[in-house]
Amino acid sequence: MPLLRVRDLTVTGGPLTLVRDVNFDVNAGERVGLIGESGSGKSLTSLAIMGLLGEGLSARGEVSLDGENLLSASERRRCEIRGNRMAMVFQEPMSALNPTRRIGDQVGETLRIHQGLSRRAARTAAVELLRRVEFADPERYVRMYPHELSGGQRQRVMIASALSCDPEVILADEPTTALDVTVQRRVLDLLDRLVDETGCALLLIAHDLAVVSEVCDRVVTMYGGRVVESGSVAQIIDEPRHPYTRALLATSTALSVAETSSGANLPSIPGSVPSAGHFPQGCPFRDRCDRRVDACVEMPPTEVHGTRSLACWNPVDDSELVHEEAP
Ligand code: SF4
Repeated sequence: MPLLRVRDLTVTGGPLTLVRDVNFDVNAGERVGLIGESGSGKSLTSLAIMGLLGEGLSARGEVSLDGENLLSASERRRCEIRGNRMAMVFQEPMSALNPTRRIGDQVGETLRIHQGLSRRAARTAAVELLRRVEFADPERYVRMYPHELSGGQRQRVMIASALSCDPEVILADEPTTALDVTVQRRVLDLLDRLVDETGCALLLIAHDLAVVSEVCDRVVTMYGGRVVESGSVAQIIDEPRHPYTRALLATSTALSVAETSSGANLPSIPGSVPSAGHFPQGCPFRDRCDRRVDACVEMPPTEVHGTRSLACWNPVDDSELVHEEAP
C-alpha cells in the first residue's frame, strides 16, 4: 500500500471545478515531483492533501495516509496528522512566518503544540533543527526575526519547521521559486539530503522540470486541473509523450541556457493558461497544442502502462523523440 494515495481528488469552488479526478501515489521514502505552470492545479492539489483549502473550496475523493482517508476525517484528526505526520513548506516563507515572532519560537511551536514540550525545551530543539538545515550559528538565529534573514535562510527555517515533528511526508510547494540560482541549488541539495537522512516521502511541487528532475524519482504532470502524464524521471525527461510535458521540458532546458547567456530569448509555451475552472471542453490543453486532432474535443481517457500514465489522443511518438535528440 502506498504511504500517500490520491484517488479521484476533485476540488470545487462554487460552480467551478478547479481540480478534477487527480490520481497518484507516493511511497515511503519516495520523491515525487508535481509539475505544471501556474494555474495548472498543482498547488490546489497539495493544499487539498494537507486539508488547507481556503474558504469556499471543497475537496472530494480520497487522500489516504497509510490507508486512512483524510478527506473523511474530522478537523481535529487532520490537525493531529498535519502536525505530526505531514508537513508543508510554502513557496513564500515571508508570508508563512510571523514577522513579530522570533525564529526559535516559530520553529519550536509545532513541538510545543503537538509534543507538549516546554518553551525552553522547544527553543533547544529549534537550535538543533536550525543546525540540521545548515545554520552555522543557530543560537544566534533563533533570537532573530524573519526580516533579519535572507530569502534562502527563511526557506531553510521553513524546512526546519517542517522537520520538527519528524514527518512521514513533506509537501514542498515551489520552495525555490523566489530564490536566485545559487541559493536554489543549496535549498534543493538540502531537501535531497534531509529526505535521504530521514527516509520521509517528498512531494515537490514545481513549474520547472529541471528542478524536479534533480531531486525526484517520479514526475506527475498536471494541466487544467488534471493529471495528463506521469512516469519515472527518466521516462518523462527522455521520452515525454504528452505534448504539454514536452513543451514544459523545452522551456525548462531554455532556463538552463539563460543562466549562462544573458539576453537570450526564452522560448515559452504558446498561449497562456486559462483561469482556473475555465478550461476548454475536451482536452484542457487543446487551444495551445500543436498536435490537436478532431478527437481532442473529447476528454482523452487516462491509459496506464506499467509505471506510466498518459491522457492524450495524439501523443508524441518515437520517431519525433529520436528527431528531437539529434543535434
Ligand atoms: S489530447 Fe489532443 S489537444 Fe490534448 S494534448 Fe493530446 S493531442 Fe494535444
